[in-house]
Amino acid sequence: MSTAQTELRRKQIEQAEELLFSGQQKVGFAKDLFFGHFLTDSIFPYPSLPPALEEATQQAVDEVRQYTRDHIDAARIDRESRIPDEVVQGLGQIGVLGMCVSPRYGGRGFSQQQYCRIMEVIGAHCGGTTVFVNAHHSIGLRAIELFGTTEQKERWLPTLCSGETLAAFALTEPEAGSDASNVRTQATPTPDGRGFVLNGTKRYITNGAIAGMLTVMARTPDPKDPDGKVTAFLVTPDMPGFEVLEARMDKVGIRGTATARLAFHDMFVPKENILGEYGKGLKLALTVLDFGRTTFGASCTGVAKFCIEEATKYANERRQFGKALAEFDLVREKIALAAAEMYAMESATYHTAALIDTGAHDYMLETSMIKLFASDALWRIVNDTLQIHGGAGFFTDRPFERMMRDARLNLIGEGANDVLRCFNAMVGLRNLGKELQEVLKKPWRAVMLWRSPPRIPVHHSRLQKPAGILAKQIARFARACTRALVSYREDIIDHEFVQARIGDTATELFHASCVYTRLSGLLTNSKIDEATRQRELTTGLCYLQIAFRRNAQRLASIHNNDDDTLNKTAEAWLSKG
Ligand SMILES: Cc1cc2nc3c(=O)[nH]c(=O)nc-3n(C[C@H](O)[C@H](O)[C@H](O)COP(=O)(O)OP(=O)(O)OC[C@H]3O[C@@H](n4cnc5c(N)ncnc54)[C@H](O)[C@@H]3O)c2cc1C
Repeated sequence: MSTAQTELRRKQIEQAEELLFSGQQKVGFAKDLFFGHFLTDSIFPYPSLPPALEEATQQAVDEVRQYTRDHIDAARIDRESRIPDEVVQGLGQIGVLGMCVSPRYGGRGFSQQQYCRIMEVIGAHCGGTTVFVNAHHSIGLRAIELFGTTEQKERWLPTLCSGETLAAFALTEPEAGSDASNVRTQATPTPDGRGFVLNGTKRYITNGAIAGMLTVMARTPDPKDPDGKVTAFLVTPDMPGFEVLEARMDKVGIRGTATARLAFHDMFVPKENILGEYGKGLKLALTVLDFGRTTFGASCTGVAKFCIEEATKYANERRQFGKALAEFDLVREKIALAAAEMYAMESATYHTAALIDTGAHDYMLETSMIKLFASDALWRIVNDTLQIHGGAGFFTDRPFERMMRDARLNLIGEGANDVLRCFNAMVGLRNLGKELQEVLKKPWRAVMLWRSPPRIPVHHSRLQKPAGILAKQIARFARACTRALVSYREDIIDHEFVQARIGDTATELFHASCVYTRLSGLLTNSKIDEATRQRELTTGLCYLQIAFRRNAQRLASIHNNDDDTLNKTAEAWLSKG
C-alpha cells in the first residue's frame, strides 16, 4: 500500500471510530451475537401494542388504507412521473406527513411501531409515494425532530406535518455516495460570524426541488482537522445562491418521486440554521438513516404481503398441464420462500421499532440488518411473483413490472447493500477486536474467548430443536469471528469476502432470533386463533430451517470458497485495458 493510501486508510478508520463509536457505548442484541451471546432480555418478548394503542393504530391503518385506495393511483403516478399535489395535501390532512412528531408541533405523536404499520400500507400500495413519505418524514423532518432546537421545531415542524412545506435530506454528492464522509460541499464561516457561505453540489436528492426545507450536509472548518468536519444546515430554496440543476431526474422506478440535482453558489446560511452540534453532521445523518432503514423494513413487508396474496390467488386460479399452478412444487417453493422471508423481515422490523420506542440509544446494527435483509428478500419475492404470473406478469396492466422497478431502489438507497454487508461485519468485529486486545495484554483472560452455545429460553417443546441449533450456530459464528480477527488482524478491513460472510451470517442470526422470539409468543398466546397459529408456526419454522441451512453454508465457506479464483478472474477482466 502506498504512503498516501495508508494515510487515507488511517483517516478513514479514525473517522469511522469517531462516527460510530463515540458517545454512549452500549451492548445490543446484534452486537452481542459477535461474542456468542443471546441477550434474552433485549429480544424477549416479541413486541405488541397495548390494547388502547392497538385500537388507535388500527383505526389509523384503516383510514390510510382507505385513502390510498380512493386517492392514490400508483400506475398513474408511475406513468406521469409525478405525485399529484392533491395526494400530498391529502396525506398531510390524514396525518401521514407528521405521524411521529409530537402533537405540540402538529404531529400525531405515533411511536415507531405504529408508524411502521402505516408504512406497510403505503408500501403495499405505491412505491413512489412510500419513498416520498420516507424522504419527507423518516429522514427529512426527523432530523429537526431529533436534533432541532425548540425555535427550529416551532418554526418548521407545524407546516412540515401538514404538508404545506416538504422536507428533503441532502447528503449525497458526486464524490460522496457510499463514502458518505467524503462530503465536498464547503461551508465557510463569514468574517462577521453571522453565518456560513455554502458552495457545492448535491445529487439524487429526493424531494430536493419541491422541498421548502432541506437538511444539507456541508464541510466546516475544524481547528484539529485540516479537512474539516461535516455539519448539518437547514436550508430553504429562497436563499440566494440556491440552484436547482435538475428537478426530476428520469429514472427506473419510484418514478413519481422528484429526485433532484442541486447547487449552492456562495449561498449565505445564518448560524442559527445549524442543525444539531457543529461538526457532528455525519453522526446526525447516520442517526436519521436508522429511522429511514426501519421504515424500509416496514414498507418492504407491506409489498411482500401484497405479492404473496396476489401470487397465491393466481397460482390457485391459473391451470396448466391440467392442474392449478399451485400444485407444482417449484411454484409452491416460491410461495413458501416468500412467506418465510416476509415473516422474518416483519419480525425483525417490529422488534427494532419497539427497541427504538423504548428509548434505546444504539440500534445502528439492527436497522442496517433490517434494510439489507428486507430489500434483498423483497427483490426475490417480487421477481418470483412476476414469474408465477408468467407472461401476464410482464405487462403493465398488472402491477408487478412496476413493483420490480420500484423495489430495485431499495438495494441502493440509504446505503448500498454490499456496503452494508461489510458495515455490519465491521461494527460487530470492532467490539470483539477490543476484547481480543485485552486478552493479548493479559493472556490469562484467554478463557473469555471460549464460546459455548448461549442459553436460549425454550417456552414450548416445539421450539426445543430450533433453540438448540440457533444456540450452536451463534457459538460457531462467534468462534469464526474470533478466528477471522486473529488471522487477519487490522487487515480484515481489506478482506470483503470475509466481511460479507460474517455480516450475512450475523444478519441471518439476528432475523432468526427475532422469528424465534415471535414463535415463543405465538405458542404461548391463548388469544390467537388456531388456524393463524398453525400457519404462522409453519412459516416461522420454515424460515428458521432455511436460515440455519444458509448460515451453515456461509460458515462452511470460510474454509472452502472461491474467493481467490473470483479475484483472479475479476483481475483478468479489470486489467484488460
Ligand atoms: C432514487 C434515489 C433517491 C435517493 N435519495 C437520496 C436522498 O434523498 N438524499 C441523499 O442524500 N441521497 C439519496 N440517494 C443517494 C443514495 O443514498 C446513494 O445512491 C447510495 O448511497 C449509493 O451511492 P452512489 O450512488 O454514489 O454509489 P457508489 O458509492 O458509487 O457505489 C456504486 C456501487 O459500488 C458498490 N460499492 C461501493 N462501495 C463499496 C464497498 N466499499 N464495497 C463493496 N461495494 C461497494 C455498491 O454495489 C454500490 O452500489 C438516492 C439515490 C437514488 C437512486
